[in-house]
Amino acid sequence: MSQQILIVEDEADIRELLRFNLEREGFSVLEAADGNEGLKLARQHMPDLMLLDVMLPGFDGFEVCRRLGAQSETANIPVLMLTARGEEMDRVVGLSLGADDYVVKPFSVRELMLRIRAVLRRGTRSSESPVLERHGIRLRPEAHTAEVQGQEMPLTATEFRLLEDLLRHAGAVRTREQLLNKVWGYSFEGYARTVDTHVRRLRAKLGGAAAMLETVRGVGYRIKE
Ligand code: CA
Repeated sequence: MSQQILIVEDEADIRELLRFNLEREGFSVLEAADGNEGLKLARQHMPDLMLLDVMLPGFDGFEVCRRLGAQSETANIPVLMLTARGEEMDRVVGLSLGADDYVVKPFSVRELMLRIRAVLRRGTRSSESPVLERHGIRLRPEAHTAEVQGQEMPLTATEFRLLEDLLRHAGAVRTREQLLNKVWGYSFEGYARTVDTHVRRLRAKLGGAAAMLETVRGVGYRIKE
């Protein structure tokens, strides 16, 4: 079965351009013209990825992202945001709300397809170990469930991969570059802050267990042995 991508974008021309190129690449495509419709389709179809524009009528793409992440059934849907040129804030806000990556408009179709492939690759569940457990955190990569102190913890696809990688290397320092390569599938210069943003969000979700995720100054992050 082909992978399904949900486009949430109010501009019909851009939706059409995206649909045309995605279908040519073998994806099946769903379209929504606003956030409400996007969220509804996401719940109904559980797409493999959501392409989400920031500027939408009604509530914006950030709010869509927040609502998607607030529900455990949709929190795992990877999100790639489409942001306006030069809106640095948009990227930071988008990533902090759970988006997995972003592409700046006007985008090159080729770059967009590469980013989509990269997000989908890292969304693929690893099956190395059935359960990862440490410091009250319990991760089941196959079922893609996460618990902290017995409570379910809704994580985005990226947060899950990040925590999984850190847990698999518990006791060892993971550099930002290693994390970018492993979790994001690429390592571009200037993306170190992306890691920091996701770690900050992960810590917020870990609550009392966050202390075991240490910052190693000037190097990266480590989960205490
Ligand atoms: Ca728009």
